[in-house]
Amino acid sequence: MSFGYAGVRWATDSNLWQRDAQHSVLRTSIRIIMYDFIVIGAGIAGIAIAEILQRAGKHVLLLESREYVCAEASAQQAGWFHTGALYAALPNRSFSSALVNNLNIINTYYKDFENMNLAANGGVHLTKNGGWFSDNPIYYYYVSSEAKEVEFWKKLPWWLVTQSIKSNGNKQRQYTEHAYYNSLPDLKLPTIDINQISLVFSSCDRIMDSRLIVIDLLRSFLGNGGEMRCNTTVVNIGRQHINTVSETIQCHHVVVAAGEKIRNLTNLNMRVVVSPIAVAYPALTSHNFVKISPSRSKIFNHLYHPYKEHGYSVIGNASYFSEINDETDTHTRKSFSEMKRSFFPNTNSTLSFYYGHKTEIVGIGQLRNYNSHIIDTGECLAAIPGKFSLSFSLAVNVCHHYGIKPISNLNNLTSYEKVENLVPFPEHYNKVLEADYGRPA
Ligand SMILES: Cc1cc2nc3c(=O)[nH]c(=O)nc-3n(C[C@H](O)[C@H](O)[C@H](O)COP(=O)(O)OP(=O)(O)OC[C@H]3O[C@@H](n4cnc5c(N)ncnc54)[C@H](O)[C@@H]3O)c2cc1C
Repeated sequence: MSFGYAGVRWATDSNLWQRDAQHSVLRTSIRIIMYDFIVIGAGIAGIAIAEILQRAGKHVLLLESREYVCAEASAQQAGWFHTGALYAALPNRSFSSALVNNLNIINTYYKDFENMNLAANGGVHLTKNGGWFSDNPIYYYYVSSEAKEVEFWKKLPWWLVTQSIKSNGNKQRQYTEHAYYNSLPDLKLPTIDINQISLVFSSCDRIMDSRLIVIDLLRSFLGNGGEMRCNTTVVNIGRQHINTVSETIQCHHVVVAAGEKIRNLTNLNMRVVVSPIAVAYPALTSHNFVKISPSRSKIFNHLYHPYKEHGYSVIGNASYFSEINDETDTHTRKSFSEMKRSFFPNTNSTLSFYYGHKTEIVGIGQLRNYNSHIIDTGECLAAIPGKFSLSFSLAVNVCHHYGIKPISNLNNLTSYEKVENLVPFPEHYNKVLEADYGRPA
């Protein structure tokens, strides 16, 4: 039980409520609950951080302004779990190394989750079908430097990139075993003109069941005694407390994992861009692939999500905007429709669209940075995952930041039924339900 008094959150300690038999009065003592951690925001970052801290024996309060958890950016992701393939070709190896480290962390601290079915030792493979990650690989199609779409001045540099990947002799060599399979798949993708492609890899990237991951982490967080409150918006933070509109709650440490709203609660300078997703239902193909081109406007990825008989497609491209207005929305619809017409001319699937905010910390002169970050502002720790995939290592890094040793064993899990209603379906799934039944889940 808790109640507010003079702006401070006081809480009764239930053991101290006693009925004095002789005098028939109610005696009570009150104390201020001092949490070890308050984590602001129950997106994937906040939940992963709260879970690993609580599992390590800390007393954590997780606060979420929405009615449900993971209803913002964490619901808008495409379901693509990155193991490194997309970035292994880049000259900068920091992102690949972050993803490999993330895989090691998953294998160390999350292996006891029954649904965690990814093993990374000398490459990545699934331990069983069904679970957090699907067995359907993601293929990478590198456009040939000869292709018409590659501008003249990009042909030579692009040829060098594809040769370097082909020979597996690029600077990222130490990471490519986590990214690509050695064997090439049979080239049977009807939708891409294979004459325009010089290189195909079957990668270790996977489709993830983001909702199941969130449910499992919440089961562990609550099962280990973590406290969570939805419909609670933090309006400002102090060194060892946070304020909502109605109360102050004390803690030793504040972790802000509020996604794009980190800007409102701290003075951190972040880049927030809006990124479009198209959903095609029924699926355009059951093949997961990424078409990679030196021209950003020609890049797109197609992820197949199972649903009923034909599944549905989630399609992303490399475009992003500072805001969505009529002009950018029209541009998005036009470019996705053209892509569908040229690559999947014989399908009559309908396309629907949504947009989501990507929050990143970018360096000077940098356009995008998908890496995770933790930044100590003195008052709080801001946590930005960069990718849903990277929330595991982000959470473990938060422990290390405070000198806390994460625990690899799972202790207690609350039941699936107790948490499933708190976790909404991802936006792409809702789009399909809307197309099918005229309403989201
Ligand atoms: C279109 C799109 C596609 C993507 N696809 C992928 C993908 O396929 N794979 C991948 O790995 N990543 C993907 N990402 C990135 C990924 O979705 C994000 O990096 C990740 O979900 C961010 O999680 P988060 O917890 O930091 O933020 P959020 O999920 O936004 O969570 C922040 C939470 O804080 C709460 N909050 C905010 N302010 C307050 C407050 N004052 N008080 C209390 N609570 C508050 C919010 O309600 C919210 O629930 C994609 C992102 C987008 C936008």
